[in-house]
Amino acid sequence: MDRLLTGLQPSGTLTIGNYAGGISQIVNYQSDYETFLFIPDMHAITVPQDPEALHRNIINAIAMYIACGVNPDLPNMHIYIQSENLYHANLSWIFECHTPHGELTRMHQFKAKSALHETFTEGLVTYPDLMAADILLYDAKYVPTGIDQKQHVELARNIAIRFNNRYGELFAIPEPLIPSIGAKIRDLQNPEQKMSKSTTNPKASIFLSDPEKVIRKKIMSAVTDSDGVIKFDEENKPGVSNLLTIYSVFTGSSIEDAVAKFEGGGYGDLKKAAADAVVEKLMPMQEKYNDIINSGRINEILDAGRDYSNKIAAEKYEKVRKAVGFGRI
Ligand code: ATP
Ligand code: MG
Repeated sequence: MDRLLTGLQPSGTLTIGNYAGGISQIVNYQSDYETFLFIPDMHAITVPQDPEALHRNIINAIAMYIACGVNPDLPNMHIYIQSENLYHANLSWIFECHTPHGELTRMHQFKAKSALHETFTEGLVTYPDLMAADILLYDAKYVPTGIDQKQHVELARNIAIRFNNRYGELFAIPEPLIPSIGAKIRDLQNPEQKMSKSTTNPKASIFLSDPEKVIRKKIMSAVTDSDGVIKFDEENKPGVSNLLTIYSVFTGSSIEDAVAKFEGGGYGDLKKAAADAVVEKLMPMQEKYNDIINSGRINEILDAGRDYSNKIAAEKYEKVRKAVGFGRI
């Protein structure tokens, strides 16, 4: 089985953007690939985190993956916490010493996140090296992701190619898997931007744990435009296009069918239908989430994932260590 790998930072509560770009893809592909699904807590601290909240977010995220349909009982599903596998940081350091600084400061995410704070950490700069280590340790062939992380997967590809050329065949070359609908769910209040779980404006994002009333209120007050026409045009009508996308992701409809259904109508009807679709999907997930949180199974799942991921990563790290000349032959 080819390998697929992805991670979602425990930097807050998961959003419908994380569902569309990450979790729903894992659910779709989980029977076809050996799946490495990890919680990047080391990535989360590239911006300030409250330690108690970080612990909580890690466990909550795992319960939410399972509630969304990730099946932890599949023998080919491995769920683990990044910081419980020390090889990620070790390989990341090696990559940091092989990546020109300018390649890292050119990344979109670095530019966007460093602009939000007066100062930023070195970890925010070297984030893509750690992400390359996350992927390349496991020879992952596919990395399901939203459009925002495509550039980082491309950098991981470049690092792998460069390493293979310099040291011999060490790494498989990964490819991003971007969904055709929902690769960029937009911020409800500023649709020029993507929706993010670490937003400072809670009205901008729909969290997977939001109560029904809150979901409806957020969607009904989403920013659109003033021309009153329903069509899919992400550049000129990002707010309306976002509502069509959300409707499509949560009903399984194509964008064309969604446009055909709502064109000629008012924005209110489209908003109501998008809210209905999200509520219909999220309410049963939230019930399942509560069962999982209370089931006491999460530790077992994480122990098994930690042990397996360490075994695979140790084998890869040993080859890299020798190739770069570390330690003894
Ligand atoms: P943060 O604000 O802390 O960066 P985030 O919401 O961007 O959080 P990440 O943990 O960075 O979430 O990304 C997890 C996964 O979700 C990645 O695959 C990413 O591409 C995807 N993703 C994030 N935001 C969106 C979005 N708005 N639309 C589609 N996919 C998204
Ligand atoms: Mg992000």
